[in-house]
Amino acid sequence: MDQILRAIRESAAAEGVTRVKTVALVVGRRSGALPDALRFAFEVLTAGGEAGDGDADGSGDGSAADETARLFRGARLIIEEPPVRARCRRCGLEYGEDDGDAATNWAFLCPRCGAGAPEFISGRELRVEFYEGE
Ligand SMILES: [Zn+2]
Repeated sequence: MDQILRAIRESAAAEGVTRVKTVALVVGRRSGALPDALRFAFEVLTAGGEAGDGDADGSGDGSAADETARLFRGARLIIEEPPVRARCRRCGLEYGEDDGDAATNWAFLCPRCGAGAPEFISGRELRVEFYEGE
């Protein structure tokens, strides 16, 4: 999540955006990221913009964390979770979790020839689809 926020911050700075309204992420089901965890982290971030004000030693002033909190305060998070699709390296069959029982095992063995370790076409992505700001 930090990496994503950093990327948006840099882009926002380059575009002159001072307030992000919406962030849309694509989080594949095999990306290793948990959408619920991302949502929680985002909620904390967007609600926590005032936290820096009470900073006892004043170290929060102008820090990157404060800037990030200001930039994202009140923003909305949209998460798209594309289904996993894979291509068998042995027989070339394309299959995915939306194809039914055959490919729903976590190991993702090829339903035709049984080979493992396929090439993943989708479902491993973790990226910013877009963000909106002003
Ligand atoms: Zn196969």
